[in-house]
Amino acid sequence: MRDLIVAGNWKMNGSQQFVGEMLLALNKASFSEPVNAVVFPPSVYLHEAIQQAKAVKVGAQNLFYEKSGAFTGELSASMISDVGCEYVILGHSERRAIFGEDDLLVAKKVVAALENHITPILCVGETLEDRDGGKYADVIATQVKVGLSLLSTEQTSNVVIAYEPVWAIGTGQTASPLQAQEVHELIRNLVAELAGIEVSHNMSILYGGSVNAANAQELFSQPDIDGGLVGGASLKVDEFLAICSAAA
Ligand code: PEP
Repeated sequence: MRDLIVAGNWKMNGSQQFVGEMLLALNKASFSEPVNAVVFPPSVYLHEAIQQAKAVKVGAQNLFYEKSGAFTGELSASMISDVGCEYVILGHSERRAIFGEDDLLVAKKVVAALENHITPILCVGETLEDRDGGKYADVIATQVKVGLSLLSTEQTSNVVIAYEPVWAIGTGQTASPLQAQEVHELIRNLVAELAGIEVSHNMSILYGGSVNAANAQELFSQPDIDGGLVGGASLKVDEFLAICSAAA
């Protein structure tokens, strides 16, 4: 059975007080056994979030692939592992669009995460222009192929992929369950070609893009959707918990 994951990407939001209140509330909640709930605070709060988290895991929103050195402002995979992160989000569309990350850079980050025993959540997804132009399958296939291109089969088996259509992120415009399922199936088939049926069958593929308490259940009931990467709705504890329940 595949891992069910609900990942809460807090992006550049919050404060020490917010982190304390969220973790306190999440620690009091009960999560259904198969669901892995993971929160991704801003990096400056990772250490304290990990100290406080009992019921949820904690991940980082980014890393840099070099081991150490003159890379001002960056965090290495070994640093985020050192403070206790179990997951890292890589290739988020905001990093691609605002910070110019390309597929090869993302691929190097995926390697660094795995070498440090951190599960990478590799984000892929098309823009509205790609979708309207009928190019979405090609765009996603390239992102997946290059993103996994530096990995052995065994390493690929430890990757999580998140399908996040750019037009659905933070817009309130969710992909329909069928639109999402179509792409998830495409990704799973592609992983089967690249790394074999077993790896593809066991890989968790998350959907992200305006997931909320009202639409989560229908999205997560699709056969190839194994949970969600949640932005805005993960900042509200009740809504995040409802999304976690929908995945169970
Ligand atoms: C995200 O940032 O990964 C995301 C999916 O955001 P939102 O849920 O707000 O659309």
